[in-house]
Amino acid sequence: MKAQEDVERPMHPLVSKYLRLERMPHMACPGCGIGQVIHSTLIACDDLALTPENTVWVQGVGCSSRITYTLWKGDSIDAHHGRIFAVATGMKMSRPDLNFICFTGDGDCMAIGGNHFLHACRRNLDVTALMFNNAIYGMTGGQVAPTSPVGARTTTTPYGNIEDPLDTVNVAIAAGASYVARWRATDFKQLTKSIKKGIKTKGFSYIEILVQCPTQFGRYVLNTGDPAKIIEWYKENTVRLKKAEKMSPEQLKDKILIGEFAQRKDRTGIVERYWEMVKEIQGERA
Ligand code: SF4
Repeated sequence: MKAQEDVERPMHPLVSKYLRLERMPHMACPGCGIGQVIHSTLIACDDLALTPENTVWVQGVGCSSRITYTLWKGDSIDAHHGRIFAVATGMKMSRPDLNFICFTGDGDCMAIGGNHFLHACRRNLDVTALMFNNAIYGMTGGQVAPTSPVGARTTTTPYGNIEDPLDTVNVAIAAGASYVARWRATDFKQLTKSIKKGIKTKGFSYIEILVQCPTQFGRYVLNTGDPAKIIEWYKENTVRLKKAEKMSPEQLKDKILIGEFAQRKDRTGIVERYWEMVKEIQGERA
């Protein structure tokens, strides 16, 4: 009988098409939702005929970024903690012809990088941002995050979190992002469709993904390391936007809404405006 590690498992064809095999298997804990999001991302890239030559992956710091770091066969860059959109801005401004997919987490994007996130939305920077929300600091040991629910017991809130979590979708809409959605990692169809819409959108696309984290959120907050139970928890605590329209505020208390929240076509962005200006000035000087 073959040992488990010797058993050959069929590899999804998109893995060898898009990812560096020497970086496989990736570093996510067993049962983590991040792999599901990478799966959706690869399908979206393939459906839109994106290639490693015309697409760049940008990472911040945290679980999501550690896992996507140098995984993409094309160019990828790792930014300082919270500085993912500062780095993406410089790259997209100089190479508007390339697609940029940014992988960030709730700590990277909403705490350390909250300021940069606001301005990426305001500038309507033409990139696709995938924000992996595991509602805790995963990589650094289970500390409370700005997205942790009230009452969550974490390593830094042993008596329970007393702060309200940030509704990141509302922040993105208020700050001016063109496309805004939130899904669970298990919403494969909807998430893949959203990532495709995000890539096709001119302007800043923000997709928050609720990822099950058995190692930290499950263990500390839900007292379980079983991914199936955490997925069940998300099922019980999320409501589709359409369904929410028929529910009362009492019924929606503490529920997380999922769906597509904004799709604006009325805003141009900093990249378009910058290159129009360059052309205009060059025309005047010619
Ligand atoms: S700590 Fe949590 S979010 Fe990070 S890789 Fe492990 S399960 Fe995933």
